[in-house]
Amino acid sequence: MTSVTPQERAPGGPGGQRKREPARPTREPPGRAGVPTPVVLSGSRAGGLAQRPVDTAMPSAGPLVDTFGRVHDDLRISVTDRCNLRCVYCMPEEGLTFLPRAELLDFEEIVRAAAVAHRLGVRSVRITGGEPLVRRDIVDLVRMLAAVGFADLSLTTNGMGLATLARPLADAGLQRVNVSCDSLQADRYARLRRRGDLHRVLAGMAAAEEAGLAPMKVNVVLLPGENDDEILAFADFARRTGRIVRFIEYMPLDADGAWQPDRVVEGARVVAEISARWPLEEVPGSKVDHAPAERFRFVDGGGEIGVVSSVTQPFCGTCNRLRLTADGSLRNCLFSDDELSVRDVMRSGGSDEDLATVFRRSVWGKAAGHGINAPGFVPPVRSMSMIGG
Ligand code: SAM
Ligand code: SF4
Repeated sequence: MTSVTPQERAPGGPGGQRKREPARPTREPPGRAGVPTPVVLSGSRAGGLAQRPVDTAMPSAGPLVDTFGRVHDDLRISVTDRCNLRCVYCMPEEGLTFLPRAELLDFEEIVRAAAVAHRLGVRSVRITGGEPLVRRDIVDLVRMLAAVGFADLSLTTNGMGLATLARPLADAGLQRVNVSCDSLQADRYARLRRRGDLHRVLAGMAAAEEAGLAPMKVNVVLLPGENDDEILAFADFARRTGRIVRFIEYMPLDADGAWQPDRVVEGARVVAEISARWPLEEVPGSKVDHAPAERFRFVDGGGEIGVVSSVTQPFCGTCNRLRLTADGSLRNCLFSDDELSVRDVMRSGGSDEDLATVFRRSVWGKAAGHGINAPGFVPPVRSMSMIGG
């Protein structure tokens, strides 16, 4: 990887997306058949529908496409903002207020929104949170979502509830899980994830594999001076277990607001450190697909790792993601505070066509990039557990 300065990395250059000025994506989005020619709009796109591109320019048929031609076929659905852990980079130890139950989408509403998304070309759904396994009757929701017919249905979890739920989830139609695990040392794991139990999570991973939830990805958020001495231990874990360990750069989405640029362990460092011990090569095609992780495999055939360099190597140019929060708002970017409520449309009697328009508007209003490295970057109001990672 070549090293670049944060300024050079900023999507659209200095100033970036926080000003909502139309700018080119960091990487050229791949062309897709049937996608309208990207348009560059004049004027500000800041804050809300009023300043969004006018609907006459927005396609009313075809896939979910933004003004840069990026097609969106991947939906993250958060099912709760609650969690049984309090990871240091995500939630505060105390003092978070959670959404009242009445504000959460119920299962029928989630599935209705998902079915509309499916008709609009969404092929991949990942269930997340907060911790999705603490949502009551989550297995029933998985069964209902599986019936919609997505090509890929997966879930991201801290793994604490996986040992008991893996089999019912697989039987309900879940295909894969990502399990978050930031240390292979029990005491350190408990410190970083506050309240967590490493052994329970490892048992959950084994249960998931036995239930056929594979391939399994293991998410590791690296923090300097906390767990960045475990890079090789996690690489060895990947080699021994066949699980795909993905090293994720710490993003400014923590509820404590403690993130600083110097708290980011660069993906490039991870790759260099592992390669020096076990040579790595890029998995062919990994840079052109939509996955946020750059994928590497061990040259000796010992498995695969990934790095998600959201901060130092943004992948906004190929972003195909849309998020639905637990309270029913569509977010087109983790870092954008612009939200459109499908819940309000549903609860005021809106039709599926109305919902489809909300999806189209959300995607159409997407900015070029997240702008983390731009001067004056302001983290979003909602933190990771409230949006859905
Ligand atoms: N509770 C589940 C879990 O921990 O896997 C799912 C939700 S969690 C918000 C999804 C992913 O986001 C996890 O892999 C977690 O480690 C990651 N995450 C949370 N806060 C983050 C941050 N500030 N920067 C980078 N990744 C973060
Ligand atoms: Fe909970 Fe996941 Fe956030 Fe940790 S990262 S506090 S497990 S939502």
